[in-house]
Amino acid sequence: MPRPALSVVAPCFNEEGVLPEFLQRVRSVLDSLGSSSEIVLVDDGSRDGTWQVLANAAAEDKRVIAVRLMRNHGHQLALTAGLSLCRGERILIIDADLQDPPELLVDMMALMDQGADVVYGQRRQREGETLFKRATAAAFYRLIGRMTDVQIPRDAGDFRLITRRVLDILLAMPERHRFIRGMVAWIGGRQVPLVYDRKPRAAGESKYPLVKMVRFAVDAITAFSVVPLMASMTIGWIMAAVGFAFFVYSIVGWWLGEALPGWTSIMAALGLLGGMQFLMLGVIGAYLGRLYDQSKGRPLFIIKDIVGGP
Ligand code: UDP
Ligand code: MG
Repeated sequence: MPRPALSVVAPCFNEEGVLPEFLQRVRSVLDSLGSSSEIVLVDDGSRDGTWQVLANAAAEDKRVIAVRLMRNHGHQLALTAGLSLCRGERILIIDADLQDPPELLVDMMALMDQGADVVYGQRRQREGETLFKRATAAAFYRLIGRMTDVQIPRDAGDFRLITRRVLDILLAMPERHRFIRGMVAWIGGRQVPLVYDRKPRAAGESKYPLVKMVRFAVDAITAFSVVPLMASMTIGWIMAAVGFAFFVYSIVGWWLGEALPGWTSIMAALGLLGGMQFLMLGVIGAYLGRLYDQSKGRPLFIIKDIVGGP
């Protein structure tokens, strides 16, 4: 079967309230573009009527493909399920809650026609989002920016248009804790922002309470940085130096006869052992970090062009 020109992929968790409007708006954008397309909607173990809405939509419209997961796996894995099933030459990743306007697809397509591999939505305003959410998001992107070499764009979610090539590489990355926006940034190529105003949710409420946000941030940082593991190495060097100084100090104190009986041996042992322990923890961290990198099984490099040769 030939590939459709475009796939729209959206994860849906308890979204019965927004889905009719979402479907209607996505359909009219696709109609205006005119090329062949499919809409892959993944029900991430919803407890409301989401599946009924999706199944009905699939029955009415040949373009719609409804997928249901056995249980709730979370946003990133639900999205991955949709991405692994979609067949389009270009793929639009979008949330079902209409915070990201589907109409922007037209501009994204135009930017991709000019040669972009990825066109990602960059939020100018975040209407309807609390100061707390904006502040924590800003802090998070600053932190991860310092901890990894990968340029993960600020104020960008997963809302983006990607090429089949980029998707195939993404799907070839077998890591289990997936921070998709970071993984796409890691792939590289021509990644172009499209600035937009993020709307409040059309209906329902956010499925990202604080606990999930923290877990997501930890997933993201640990997937892209072994800095926390290596921190024990840095602390180890400092502690080893301090410990050695203590060791020398207590020996000298004993030499000058200023030490209480027993003090020297305790302090000397404490200083040396404490420093050595931290240092060895750092060494274990260094190996663990390499083991972890290896276990992610990412491709070693991605070729952009080859000129000449058969
Ligand atoms: N979502 C999902 N599984 C989850 C949580 C969220 O599939 O466990 C979907 C949700 O239906 C929406 C998208 O992921 O389409 C983004 O979630 P949400 O809008 O609640 O996050 P926020 O925009 O508040 O960060
Ligand atoms: Mg949302």
